[in-house]
Amino acid sequence: MTRVLLATRNAKKLVELQRILDGVLGSQRIQLVGLADVPAYQEVPETGLTFGENALLKAREGVKWANLPTIADDSGLAVDALNGMPGVFSARWSGRHGDDRANLELVLAQIGDVPDEHRGAAFVCAAALVLPGGKEHLVDGRQTGRLLRAPRGEGGFGYDPIFLGDQQDRTNAELSPEEKDAVSHRGKALRALAKVIAKALPAESAGWTGR
Ligand code: IMP
Repeated sequence: MTRVLLATRNAKKLVELQRILDGVLGSQRIQLVGLADVPAYQEVPETGLTFGENALLKAREGVKWANLPTIADDSGLAVDALNGMPGVFSARWSGRHGDDRANLELVLAQIGDVPDEHRGAAFVCAAALVLPGGKEHLVDGRQTGRLLRAPRGEGGFGYDPIFLGDQQDRTNAELSPEEKDAVSHRGKALRALAKVIAKALPAESAGWTGR
């Protein structure tokens, strides 16, 4: 069984990716571990200007410190009327990191005058796999849709209550977790990455024991 680091402290992300990997890889098993399972190291600030740069930054750090194949992701909301912002600043758009409600309300206020036909937006996720030998893989996933004028639904997180995906009549916050996984940017990126892992790991994994 190959150990792979997912560079996150979010236990839900570990469970989500392990489920997706098991679905794609079947018996060719990968054991995912999180940052809490490896010796602590100073995590890099997310200084990239794109989701891909941030995902690669975090994955490279994992390889450097833990000496394990490392996966990292970065995601956010790109609003057409805001020229793709909040983008990599999605988690801290209102100035306070992780204040989902304030971030969502600021975006709604900023596009208050934008007519319905110009309220397009996309959730974007980049997922990186970096191997101890130095090889790097980067994939992404998108969910396109548009932004409503007021929040709807109690599920999900972040900007989900104002995001109506294409061909959906419910916001992402009104979908079950399984329904959201099937259409979401992260679900698409992680399924694509699972396929990359299936090809990239078995050939090279001997000797990656980690620290
Ligand atoms: P991270 O990649 O998990 O750090 O997410 C960055 C930020 O993007 C989050 O704090 C949310 O504001 C936003 N975001 C990312 N994915 C989603 C999603 O699936 N739904 C709603 N907001 C999201």
